[in-house]
Amino acid sequence: MKLFSIFGNPVSHSRSPLMHNSVFKNMNYNACYTRTHLLDGTQLKQTFLSLGLSGANITVPHKEEAYKACDEIRGFAKKVGVVNTIVNENGKLIGYNTDADGFMFAIEEFGEVGSILILGAGGTAKALATRFLQANIKVSVINRSEARLTYFKEIGCTCYSWDEYKTLNYDLVVNTTSAGLKDEEYPAPLEIVKDILDNTSFVADAIYGKLTPFLKLAKDKNITFKDGADMLLGQGVLANELFVNGELKKENIKLHMQKSFEL
Ligand code: NDP
Repeated sequence: MKLFSIFGNPVSHSRSPLMHNSVFKNMNYNACYTRTHLLDGTQLKQTFLSLGLSGANITVPHKEEAYKACDEIRGFAKKVGVVNTIVNENGKLIGYNTDADGFMFAIEEFGEVGSILILGAGGTAKALATRFLQANIKVSVINRSEARLTYFKEIGCTCYSWDEYKTLNYDLVVNTTSAGLKDEEYPAPLEIVKDILDNTSFVADAIYGKLTPFLKLAKDKNITFKDGADMLLGQGVLANELFVNGELKKENIKLHMQKSFEL
């Protein structure tokens, strides 16, 4: 039996085990997906190998460390230096990023989007900003710490620290900070968050499974919003395809993952 896991801190909230196990069980694929609470990201490779894993997903805050842990990086992950999916190929760790394409799938329902403000500058923000620019979308980024903005400036995003925030209009605002994940915090000071919400058509949060304070405020303001569930589904389908190496059909993977959301 093949064994897979998700690594993160926190990790107890993750729905990935439910999603991937739903596919394995219903498609009679001989595999099991578990979760691993990893405190120190530098221990990722050693832990992966000692557990005898065939593959893994990586969540907050280890995606950048996961990039360093891999022996080879393929596809979009190479461009962003952020890995959320690892496949064990004959003892070598191969790193991929499925978050960005998963998110593009999630925002299809908003139609044509020309400008996006990203809240946060972590691994997820990097993947999304790079992918949005590829799709010719204008990207702005606002983050609590200034140091993390360098990458975004270099790739052509307009960047703001909280002190530098300016009111501008966006088609979509995306929260990629972990504010609201395990606490009731806003992703920026409340007066900035309110102003941002008053100047956007759509709102999305990468966090799923709860209405974050950010989304609650968007809801109170009657703005069309969505949480991170579709992003989770999108990245999960693409990751599972890599895990099973073409042995299962994408439509079936998606169907069984979607079913697991109803549990
Ligand atoms: P990282 O740890 O790489 O980055 C976290 C970001 O959040 C940083 O920009 C950090 O700012 C900011 N931040 C953290 N706490 C606060 C706070 N209290 N107030 C303001 N900013 C804060 O995380 P990831 O990019 O890996 O993940 C971010 C979020 O996205 C997580 O909640 C994760 O669960 C979610 N996610 C969901 C996915 C899905 O499928 N739905 C897929 C991927 C991620 P600073 O630089 O100042 O520290």
